[in-house]
Amino acid sequence: MSYTSFNPPVRTLMGPGPSDVHPRVLTAMARPTIGHLDPAFIAMMEEIKGLLQYAFQTGNALTIPISAPASAGMEACFVNLVEPGEKVVVCINGVFGARMKENIERAGGVPIVVEDAMGTPVSPDKLEDALKTHRDARIVAFVHAETSTGVQSDAKTLAGIARHHDCLTIVDTVTSLGGSPLKVDEWGLDAVYSGSQKCLSCTPGLAPLTMNDRAVDKIKQRKTRVQSWFLDLNLVMGYWGSGKRAYHHTAPINTLYGLHEALAMLQEEGLEHSWARHRHQHLALRSGIEAMGLSFLVRESARLPQLNAIVVPEGVDEAVLRNRLLNDYNLEIGAGLGALAGRIIRIGLMGYGANMKNVMYCLEALEAVLADMRAPIRTGVAMNAAQNVAVPN
Ligand SMILES: *Cc1c(COP(=O)(O)O)cnc(C)c1O
Repeated sequence: MSYTSFNPPVRTLMGPGPSDVHPRVLTAMARPTIGHLDPAFIAMMEEIKGLLQYAFQTGNALTIPISAPASAGMEACFVNLVEPGEKVVVCINGVFGARMKENIERAGGVPIVVEDAMGTPVSPDKLEDALKTHRDARIVAFVHAETSTGVQSDAKTLAGIARHHDCLTIVDTVTSLGGSPLKVDEWGLDAVYSGSQKCLSCTPGLAPLTMNDRAVDKIKQRKTRVQSWFLDLNLVMGYWGSGKRAYHHTAPINTLYGLHEALAMLQEEGLEHSWARHRHQHLALRSGIEAMGLSFLVRESARLPQLNAIVVPEGVDEAVLRNRLLNDYNLEIGAGLGALAGRIIRIGLMGYGANMKNVMYCLEALEAVLADMRAPIRTGVAMNAAQNVAVPN
């Protein structure tokens, strides 16, 4: 067999991630690879730390990208902070909360589950009750933005409750970072991880992570060794720390060029402006979706602007719908996961992809295909409805 180069189709990515990557980020990634201990590279690593502190709104010294997908950011938090036998309260209202539970178990911890239905936010009252019942728990874990359902939980309130009960928080901000308000220091979040490919619009493969001194102290006081060598933050800090660098692994040089560019773009735009842009584009999409007669899974107050879970209309096979959007329109949207498979579609408006061009294109394509599938929708009104609330980028 002889293979030629791989030329991917040009798609519009409006699923749960990866999101459309800005040409500036792709261009940055094509720059020459240099050594990972080259002083020029180390200077760039320092800039990334500063840019991530801005994105997370934190002064935490331990603010770095883990050299692996967001799932490794999740795993890094659990393997470093959870010791065998420790109780961890984990809030589950979707797929990623369930993965946190699995991480706790694999780290030898004892999960105490606070469960809320898919499509609803984590209940602060239920968390409070669990912490009153399990007074020996020292960690609370929850997902800020549940990408599986399009739900945003009140991270500030949940973290306040955890702190009141003397617990550290582990918070998944994979889909919130850059897309909706996230204030690590002000809200008192202790260990926070994210991903590069959602609202930062970088390519997948990096997991921004930040931990405050409370979390770092817990790691330093461990009685047992962190079971993962690669994710042991004591070792990772020797590589990313500000002193003399010790070889740990070879950083993904060019992917980090991309992250640097994506974060520089976020800073140029301004965090508040980026949050507002995601919200405005969501409102435009919502207006069009509702004008068509479709409805959202999540109640308005808990909706995540950057991930829109829309109920599949009666009689429509959503797999056929998604395939047609991909094949006929080069448009990727997401399927429902777990209990919501077949019942919802998920439309992402993340990072660079949260713009009017994508909103209008998605509404147009969705309407055309749904109408062709004889779905019970109103046609000819969605684009106007979106335009009426649209705010230019
Ligand atoms: C996408 C996502 C992850 C996992 O990210 P990967 O980069 O695929 O490992 C974790 N949590 C949430 C909330 C996500 O949306």
